[in-house]
Amino acid sequence: MLKNNYHTHMKYCGHADGDVADYVKSAIKLGITELGMTDHAPEPDGAMTEEEILDNKSYRYMKKDMVRLYLNQIREQQILNQGKIKILSGFETEYIEGYIDHYKWLRSQVDYMNLGIHFFKDLDGHLKNSYKCIDYKNVMEYAKNVVKGIETGLFNVVVHPDLYMFRYKDKDGNRTFDENAKKAAKMILDAAVKNNVYVEVNCNAISWADINDDSTWPYPNKDFWMFAKEYKNLKILVGADAHKPERLGTPNIARAYEFVKEIGLKIEDKMEILK
Ligand SMILES: [Zn+2]
Ligand SMILES: [Zn+2]
Repeated sequence: MLKNNYHTHMKYCGHADGDVADYVKSAIKLGITELGMTDHAPEPDGAMTEEEILDNKSYRYMKKDMVRLYLNQIREQQILNQGKIKILSGFETEYIEGYIDHYKWLRSQVDYMNLGIHFFKDLDGHLKNSYKCIDYKNVMEYAKNVVKGIETGLFNVVVHPDLYMFRYKDKDGNRTFDENAKKAAKMILDAAVKNNVYVEVNCNAISWADINDDSTWPYPNKDFWMFAKEYKNLKILVGADAHKPERLGTPNIARAYEFVKEIGLKIEDKMEILK
């Protein structure tokens, strides 16, 4: 179902299964023609307090000493599978302001980078978890964190830009796409268009339909993507966000394509690396 996939995790981060070879094998079997390897990149040294690390599961990112092995395995698979599949090297990376050299270094090692904001600097200056802590009061802080990442020019794709809707509550405690949620979407999508960065409809959370009481999956969020549809120059990809090799072909992907079809979103099959 996916022609190309630019969002793939492996065992190096500590919470996914399989190495580069396992995903390449699975992708070839599924007929995928371009595969981007984007395991969770290491965090900058000293950027987070112990508490922030625990709260944000930062121990679930690749350790710095794993990077060489990871990149070597990608290179090895590129050589072994020449002519069979195009393999790109990448990372999925957070963005914490003040550590630009770290992100420049990461970007210099790979073909492209995904920006995935799983935590953000909240109003009190602490890094907060994007899954747990976002409501109408601080949603703009999440959006600002995404935009600052985009504006570094180091990222090619914003993955799950609508992750902030995961447990989002409006001022009455309801799960609506209120004015604040809309303002956040606008800020992120404006920056994506302006900086020529792709945004991703993410397939991973489609199996988590029981997390919120309303039995819809937490993202992709329908209201967010209805809003995104109005952007004529927005470039949208569908990403598997696979954490197991066989999940490059999960039924979630077909459901994501039904979702984008229902909304009428135009999807790009192929990512061009523009920077
Ligand atoms: Zn992950
Ligand atoms: Zn991911």
